[in-house]
Amino acid sequence: MSTRAALYEATVRSREPLSDHLVRLVLGGLDGFASSGVPDEWVGLVVPGQFQSRYYTVRSHRPGELTLDVVVHDVGLVTEWAMRDCIGDTVVVTEPKASFDPPQGATWLLLVGDLTAMPAMARIAETRPDLATYVMAEVPDDLAGYLPEHAQVTWLAPPSAGQSALAEVVETIDWPDGEGYFWMAGESAQMRSIRKHLMREVKLPSSHYDVMGYWRATAGRQPRAVDPGPIWRAGKAAGKSDEQIWADYDAAREATNG
Ligand SMILES: Cc1cc2nc3c(=O)[nH]c(=O)nc-3n(C[C@H](O)[C@H](O)[C@H](O)COP(=O)(O)OP(=O)(O)OC[C@H]3O[C@@H](n4cnc5c(N)ncnc54)[C@H](O)[C@@H]3O)c2cc1C
Repeated sequence: MSTRAALYEATVRSREPLSDHLVRLVLGGLDGFASSGVPDEWVGLVVPGQFQSRYYTVRSHRPGELTLDVVVHDVGLVTEWAMRDCIGDTVVVTEPKASFDPPQGATWLLLVGDLTAMPAMARIAETRPDLATYVMAEVPDDLAGYLPEHAQVTWLAPPSAGQSALAEVVETIDWPDGEGYFWMAGESAQMRSIRKHLMREVKLPSSHYDVMGYWRATAGRQPRAVDPGPIWRAGKAAGKSDEQIWADYDAAREATNG
């Protein structure tokens, strides 16, 4: 099985700061790019002068055009590029992959995440207005209006001294009745304990949740990103659950970063 993803060249058409730490980029000229239609789909993004990719959620799309909402933090390949005027730059994106897969009988969604998860949480909520949607967002900026109105949002205090409290928040959730789906993304170190909690204490079947490490807190520039695409395809081909695949992805990143 090939693990090579298709690549598409694109041009940055517009750049709009949405808040202090979130910048919206619209990429155009994407010939042949097709969305998976799954609302948490992501692409790899390679910015000018770089060979490594970083992963971004497709916030929205229309033929030949993609919108990405990029978190700008202290230091990083994409962060430093996105902080500048990048309109007109040529970038490369990979074909989209996705994970969101609620069970047929779900009546509610519980979405939890930090700023990097906001694009996916917004698109998931927009795509499934038929489900009661609860969002818990740990963000440093005022993003009122970013999520659709039907979502019941709890804004959590931003991480203090870089320490996210998302894992503790998940442990105190008052779970909605009936069948639903839990989706979460944020800093990787938190995710392992959250998965254990969901499995052992909440006893959610693995088909009823996705918990994804979107970024890894390390000192300085990350030496090498691990592409979730091949791990995803290989896991699916081996019949693994989403849960097992994301655990494989975390393990691969730990092995790379030492
Ligand atoms: C499936 C998937 C979807 C994603 N969707 C989005 C999205 O829509 N929008 C988005 O902004 N991000 C998203 N991310 C996260 C993004 O890929 C990472 O944050 C990435 O590391 C950013 O690249 P960089 O070049 O800016 O920094 P890097 O060069 O990768 O890292 C440099 C330094 O910055 C630190 N760092 C990385 N990310 C953050 C952060 N968010 N906050 C604080 N410090 C950080 C690292 O620990 C490292 O020390 C997604 C990740 C995945 C796997």
